[in-house]
Amino acid sequence: MAMSVRSPFVVVMGHVDVGKTLLLDKIRGTSVAYREPGMITQHIGMSLVPWPAVERFAGPLVDRLKLRGRIWVPGFLFIDTPGHAAFSNLRKRGGSVADLAVLVVDITSGLEDQGAESLKLIQSRGVPFVIAANKLDRIYGWRSVENRPFLFAVEEQEWHAVATLEERIGKLIDELSRFGIEADRYDRVRDFSRQVPIVPTSAVTGEGIADLLVVLAGVSQRFIPRERLQVADGPARGVVMEVKEEKGLGVVADAIIYDGRIRKGDVVVTAGLDGPREARVRMLVMPKPLEEMRDPEDRYMAVEEVRAAAGVRIVADGLEGVVAGAPIYAVWDPQAIPHVQKQIKEEIAEIKIESDREGVIVRADTFGTLESTILFLRQQGVPVRKADVGPPTHKDVVEAVLSRRRNPAFGVILAFNVKVPPDVEKEAASSGVKIIKGEILYRIFDEYIKWSHEVKT
Ligand code: GDP
Ligand code: MG
Repeated sequence: MAMSVRSPFVVVMGHVDVGKTLLLDKIRGTSVAYREPGMITQHIGMSLVPWPAVERFAGPLVDRLKLRGRIWVPGFLFIDTPGHAAFSNLRKRGGSVADLAVLVVDITSGLEDQGAESLKLIQSRGVPFVIAANKLDRIYGWRSVENRPFLFAVEEQEWHAVATLEERIGKLIDELSRFGIEADRYDRVRDFSRQVPIVPTSAVTGEGIADLLVVLAGVSQRFIPRERLQVADGPARGVVMEVKEEKGLGVVADAIIYDGRIRKGDVVVTAGLDGPREARVRMLVMPKPLEEMRDPEDRYMAVEEVRAAAGVRIVADGLEGVVAGAPIYAVWDPQAIPHVQKQIKEEIAEIKIESDREGVIVRADTFGTLESTILFLRQQGVPVRKADVGPPTHKDVVEAVLSRRRNPAFGVILAFNVKVPPDVEKEAASSGVKIIKGEILYRIFDEYIKWSHEVKT
C-alpha cells in the first residue's frame, strides 16, 4: 500500500489568558504570509503551517541551527480548539491523537492552576511537549523587534533584562521540577530525551515564534516515531471532536482524520452512548482556501475526499447521538462493516468501567473526558467501580450505596461536565451518597480528597 508522511498534530494548552489564542493567531499569520498561494491549507478546527513556510520565515535561525534541508516533517497542524475537554477528546486507543503539545505559560506568573492540570493531562496521555514561556515582551527593559528569533534577540539585550528573564525561567524550572520534570531554556538543553525545552515567546511582538516552530520540528523528528506519521492509502481512521446541528445540513460531526482517506459516499462507523453507529457520508466540508474566501458568510466548500492529516466536517445521516471522543472509521468494503463495528464496540467497552469492586462512581460528558478522568484517578490511586458517559442515574446511586458498605470514602459519584437530574440528586441526598460535580478535574479530585478525609474520621 502506498504510504505518505503526514504533518504532526500539535495541541496548544495552558492556563486562561496566557496567550494561547494570540500565539496561534501569530503562528497562523506567519504561515499565511510566508506560504505559496494555492495550497489548500485550511482545515476545520486546525491550521497548517508547512515547513517550507517556516524555512522562509525563520531562515537565519534555521541556518544557525543547521536545520536547512534536514527536516522531513512536512509541517504542523495546530489544533485550534484546545482546552481540557478538547484535549481529552483527542483520544485514540492507548493514547492521544495529538503528536505534540505546546504548554503555554505566562513567563511573569508561572504555571498556574490550569497550567498544572494541562501538564498532568499531557503527561497522562504520554504526549511529548515543549513549553512556550509567553509574554516575553513584558520582561522589564526588554527591547523588542518584530518577529525576531529569541536566540538573536537575547544577544541584543541589556544585562538587566537578561537577568530578569533568567530569574523568571529559573522559577519556572523550579516549579516544573515539582512535577518531576526537568526543563531548561531550549538553547541550553543537552539531552532532549531528558529535558523539556522552554522557548521564550511573545505573541504580541512575534519574538520567539521562529524558535518555537524550529524546536517543534526538532522534537517531532526525534520523538515522534516515523511510523506514527505514515499515512496508508486506505479507509480513514479518525476521532470525533464535536457533534452539532448545522442549519441546512442536519447533524454534523467535526472530526480529525489521522490515517487514510475519507470519500463522499463512504460508510463510516462511529459510536453513541448505546454502541456503534453507522452512517453514510453525504458531504465533506472544508474551509475555502484563503484566496478564494471573498464573502465571510461563504467560508466553506464541499470536497470529494479528504486525506490524513486533516480536520473535516462530516455531513451524514445517522450521526445523531454520536459522542465526542468516539472513533470514526471509514469502511470501503461493505463486508467489513460488522468487523469494524466490533472493533469500535470493544474500544468503547475499554473506556467504560463496570465492576463490582469497591471504588468511586464516575460520570463524564464524552468518551474523551471519561477516559481522562479515569486515567487521572488511577494515577492518584483512587479505584473506580463504575464509569460511564452521561448524567448520573438512579442505578449509580445504588452502586455508590453498595460501594460504601466496604469503604465510606467510596459512597460518591464524581460528575465531570454533566448535569445531575434533580430526582437523582434528591435520591443521593436521602441515601447519603455524595455527588461532586464540576468542570475542572483537579477541583473535583481535591474536593473528593477533602470529603474522603472527613468521612473516614
Ligand atoms: P488565552 O486565554 O490563553 O487564549 O489568551 P489570549 O490569547 O486570549 O490572551 C490573553 C491576553 O493576554 C490578551 O489580552 C492578549 O493580548 C494578552 N497577551 C497574549 N500574549 C501576549 C504576549 O506575548 N505579550 C503581551 N504583552 N500580552 C499578551
Ligand atoms: Mg483563548
